[in-house]
Amino acid sequence: MSIAEICNKMYGKTIRECSNEQVYTALLALVKKVTEERKEAQERQEKENGKKVYYISAEFLIGKLLSNNLINLGLYEQISQELEENGKNIAQIEEAEPEPSLGNGGLGRLAACFLDSIATLNLNGDGIGINYHLGLFRQVFAQNKQTEQPDYWIQKESWLTKTEVQYPVQFGKLSVMSRMYDIDVTGYEGRVNKLHLFDIDTVDEKIPMHDGIDFDKNAIEKNLTLFLYPDDSDRAGQLLRIYQQYFMVSNAAQLILSECRRKCEKAGKTLKNLNEFAVIQINDTHPTMVIPELIRILTTQKDIDGSVMTMQEAAEVVTKTCAYTNHTILAEALETWPLDYLEEVVPQLVPIIRYLDENVRARYTDSSVYIIDENDRVHMAHIDIHYGFSVNGVAKLHTEILMQEELKSFYRIYPEKFNNKTNGITFRRWLLHCNQALAAYIEELIGADFKKEAGELSQLIKYADDENVIARMLEIKAENKKRLAAYMQEKCGVKINPQSVFDIQVKRLHEYKRQQMNALYVIYKYFEIKAGNIPDTPVTVIFGAKAAKAYTIAKDIIHLILCLGELIANDPDVSPYLKVVMVENYNVTMAEKLIPACDISEQISLASKEASGTGNMKFMLNGALTLGTFDGANVEIAQLVGKDNIYTFGASSDEVIAHYKNADYCAKDLYEKDEMIKKCVDFIVSDELKQYGDEENLSRLYHEIISKDWFMTLLDFKEYIKVKEQALADYKDRAAWGRKMLINTAMAGFFSSDRTIRQYNTDIWKL
Ligand SMILES: *Cc1c(COP(=O)(O)O)cnc(C)c1O
Repeated sequence: MSIAEICNKMYGKTIRECSNEQVYTALLALVKKVTEERKEAQERQEKENGKKVYYISAEFLIGKLLSNNLINLGLYEQISQELEENGKNIAQIEEAEPEPSLGNGGLGRLAACFLDSIATLNLNGDGIGINYHLGLFRQVFAQNKQTEQPDYWIQKESWLTKTEVQYPVQFGKLSVMSRMYDIDVTGYEGRVNKLHLFDIDTVDEKIPMHDGIDFDKNAIEKNLTLFLYPDDSDRAGQLLRIYQQYFMVSNAAQLILSECRRKCEKAGKTLKNLNEFAVIQINDTHPTMVIPELIRILTTQKDIDGSVMTMQEAAEVVTKTCAYTNHTILAEALETWPLDYLEEVVPQLVPIIRYLDENVRARYTDSSVYIIDENDRVHMAHIDIHYGFSVNGVAKLHTEILMQEELKSFYRIYPEKFNNKTNGITFRRWLLHCNQALAAYIEELIGADFKKEAGELSQLIKYADDENVIARMLEIKAENKKRLAAYMQEKCGVKINPQSVFDIQVKRLHEYKRQQMNALYVIYKYFEIKAGNIPDTPVTVIFGAKAAKAYTIAKDIIHLILCLGELIANDPDVSPYLKVVMVENYNVTMAEKLIPACDISEQISLASKEASGTGNMKFMLNGALTLGTFDGANVEIAQLVGKDNIYTFGASSDEVIAHYKNADYCAKDLYEKDEMIKKCVDFIVSDELKQYGDEENLSRLYHEIISKDWFMTLLDFKEYIKVKEQALADYKDRAAWGRKMLINTAMAGFFSSDRTIRQYNTDIWKL
């Protein structure tokens, strides 16, 4: 069926007469129908008896799906042309689609890229998560501060398909009935898999909200699937997170076991063979309770042959089925739950967790590997490592740090479980969709194979010294910058100069990512310009970041950036040469606009703290040069492109780890001994800046930086300035810069999530 036919059938109108929203809804129906046909063909072909991967994750930051699905179904060209012929534009139709905010940052976006690659590689694998009605909050700036608003993304017509699948989920004092919603995941010229999102019918979107997104956290039946990461700074908030986690994994366990029972029966086997039919990838620790939950079910329900497993048998088969991905070494992000909280929410799991802990204690004397610590807190990652068969980090450096530092007592026991899987991104979204001009030009140069075999991009290297190719690359970048400038003008009412250098730092706000260091650079540059050192090319520093609602210092950093932006915009001496913009509500859609237009990609986390990063890969692929520390996947980017095509600086992870061990980092010393550092930091609490902001926030941040600075901003600040100035100076030589851009794009093939997923499959899943 064509769009014209659907528009006619749904609205009795031609395409031209339909509103953009109506055309969007028509396209939704069309894509769903084509996907259904593909699925039916696939089901006829295969018997669905084989092994399947279940990727369980608290987050799936899928972004808008229309264009991606059209690309993956091979319909994009045809549809955009048909729309064009009827006075519509696909980019504008896309505006009608709400972005589901089912994730927070890199971890959730990774899960979405993985689903795309699993389907593209024709692997049988589904995602399992929660259908948060309001997702993560919508960020709105007011008085130069972040406020949080509920983000209603679910509309009457959406990608969600309501199913009849329902499971009972029992909590301590309450039982609920779940409902499964599905989103089809269409691979690029590949199969159709599913993202299963669980929900409850009683959730109440109209639950009273105060102060943006605060609500009654005790009304579990109304709020269970309302928000992603509800504020957990109090007890009720922490309990709610445990409710959500158990809800997710109880549904996952029931779904997985029902599918596997069917397969076992057909094959004449029992659930003792579970690992021949299922592999469960546990994305960070949020889904950890799936391990005790599976053991609980297997030891209380009859197997196919009528027997019931012993605890030991169940633990054995579950261990062979589960694999764990670690995403962070930040102590505060490694989840531990008080045993009495678990006792309250999921009492049925407590005896199992105690049993698992006793087993560990019987085998090992090293108390650092116990599951339950001396304060009766349950270390979720420890459950995953003991009772899973694989533990992977997400970049080489990160995995190395896990083995040698953070998890070394585990590595000593289970060296065979540890492996690295450097993260990746799907090139369909992060090149073919977001940077169509560049993708088309690459195809012109080297053919279309890179779309499925990303390594083919390296063929571009042969054009590294071709002036015409470099010129065209620069031209595409310039067009992308103009397009971004027009978009920002229209959407945010801010004017940016497309002739300026676009220096972009977009990612969640966290002290370890060091947006504060970039803000201090802005202060430095402001002084420089004031002193008459006018840059050859104006600079636009763009930030985008949400801060967790209860993360005070992160919000203070946002406040600083917004205040600086206003101060500079109001200063006619400086504003022609320096502009600071913070985009509101940074999300996937915004990322897709910003990244193709970027010149300098800011990846300046404190070495050892950013496990991998994936933003760095998106920027590199789109021809931005990385300005970064030797952290996470930056290390691998540097190796691939060589030192002439990246700007690196700062203390190494070894040095940083040594500082923490010796407790010898002192921000105050650096501040007092260096006049320039002192001048920049002092500006945070200057009268000039206070005109635009709040004394309380600015002075809190100031004191944090000089007296604590846990993520060592001042340690790397001077070298950061030096290297950034070098990058800005190099920008002038357009041909040389263009050559570096080309090399970055050419070497980005390694970071395709297709490569990552092939490795997961070869080493871990073995589908
Ligand atoms: C890729 C992406 C991230 C992750 O960025 P990092 O720089 O790796 O932290 C976060 N948010 C969105 C919307 C993304 O697309």
